[in-house]
Amino acid sequence: QTLLGRIERLDGRLNSFISITHEQALAAADAADALRAKGQAGPLTGLPLALKDIFCTDGVKTSCGSKMLDNFIAPYDACVVEKLKSAGTVSLGKTNMDEFAMGSSNENSHYGPVRNPWDLDAVPGGSSGGSAAAVAAGLVPAAMGTDTGGSIRQPAAFCGITGLKPTYGRVSRYGIIAYASSLDQAGPMARTAEDCALLLGAIAGHDLRDSTSVARGVPDYRAELGESLSGLKIGLPREYFGDGLAPEVEQAVREAIKVYESLGASVHEVSLPHTHYAIPAYYVIAPAEASSNLSRFDGVRFGHRCDAPSDLIDLYKRSRDEGFGSEVKRRILIGTHTLSEGFFDAYYTQAQKVRRLIRQDFLDAFEEVDVLMGPASPTPAFDLGANKDPVSMYLQDIYTIAVNLAGIPGISVPAGFVGSRPVGLQILGPHFAESQLLNVAHQFQ
Ligand code: GLN
Repeated sequence: QTLLGRIERLDGRLNSFISITHEQALAAADAADALRAKGQAGPLTGLPLALKDIFCTDGVKTSCGSKMLDNFIAPYDACVVEKLKSAGTVSLGKTNMDEFAMGSSNENSHYGPVRNPWDLDAVPGGSSGGSAAAVAAGLVPAAMGTDTGGSIRQPAAFCGITGLKPTYGRVSRYGIIAYASSLDQAGPMARTAEDCALLLGAIAGHDLRDSTSVARGVPDYRAELGESLSGLKIGLPREYFGDGLAPEVEQAVREAIKVYESLGASVHEVSLPHTHYAIPAYYVIAPAEASSNLSRFDGVRFGHRCDAPSDLIDLYKRSRDEGFGSEVKRRILIGTHTLSEGFFDAYYTQAQKVRRLIRQDFLDAFEEVDVLMGPASPTPAFDLGANKDPVSMYLQDIYTIAVNLAGIPGISVPAGFVGSRPVGLQILGPHFAESQLLNVAHQFQ
């Protein structure tokens, strides 16, 4: 109730929530109290949190930030939501996001932009900007996000919190509205790495309903926290410290790396030579998958339907024209084009080959070092409305996107400020090295 009151008082200025689920929250809190009274409480029992509005939540509006789904009440829970409920957490509501998770600033939401709690003139990052802002403002201690090309790590960096994108396949995608299925992954956003460790343990695991989820045991992610970092080999990718990186961000990241040296780690320069192909490859693969995934929004079965269609084609056309915003339409156009006959090999097949090279860059680097470190984003949060050109917005994700193409895990941790705006240190590890990443992140905090 304290946090619901805080949301009511403060969220008018931030716009970090799309829906606040008072009733369900109070019922879940009562259930948690009952468990506690019986001595059956676990570490997450009664923990209030928020869910990005991309997670289907039974009986609750699940809009994905789009007019298309403004009237959609999900009829079931996503796997992540099921697991969080059974761990006893109490969801207070659904957080704002870029429409269908397409964006880096949260300015593409049908529900209006989110503001950064550290500076109301700045964006919170995207697409999980509502989750990041809600945690940073102390409206909830933790929130769930999804990351297809940086959407957990970049808003975590912009809002001065910790955000983890797990290995592809670590967390089930069942019930998460699909953007680019081969890249999407859900993860926790919280104050600390320890909180993220606790939450990852609750949401990770094999799920038969997502054929890409991996059958592999879920470790206790808190067990390695505090293990010595003496002898840890940190790689600094040359390509992550080049042109376009704001000098103040570079300085904050280099200061953070010095802290690790003082803890006994050694620093090595490495190269990820295909880095500059990551954005072009992503902007072929992600829109291609999106154009296919978003074909289900046809005005027939659920979601927005236009008034008085004259025939079926008119129903499709007007429902989609009215329901989708301009960035979503741009991605559908790009994806449909790159998948079309005559262009498929030149764009899509080529991008998949490039993806393989990008993945190999990381595998080669992890032969030499244990983790990679660099900035999460080339700049701190920019001003709302300042970045109008879509291509310059796409370039924002230069340090995060390759990670999704490779499927490896990454975490952003707070590493200082430029003026009032936070900077994030990004730490990357090999597939399924979440325990190690969380330990490394934890020791900085
Ligand atoms: N900014 C990237 C995009 O617009 C990544 C978004 C995400 O990770 N969901 O596609």
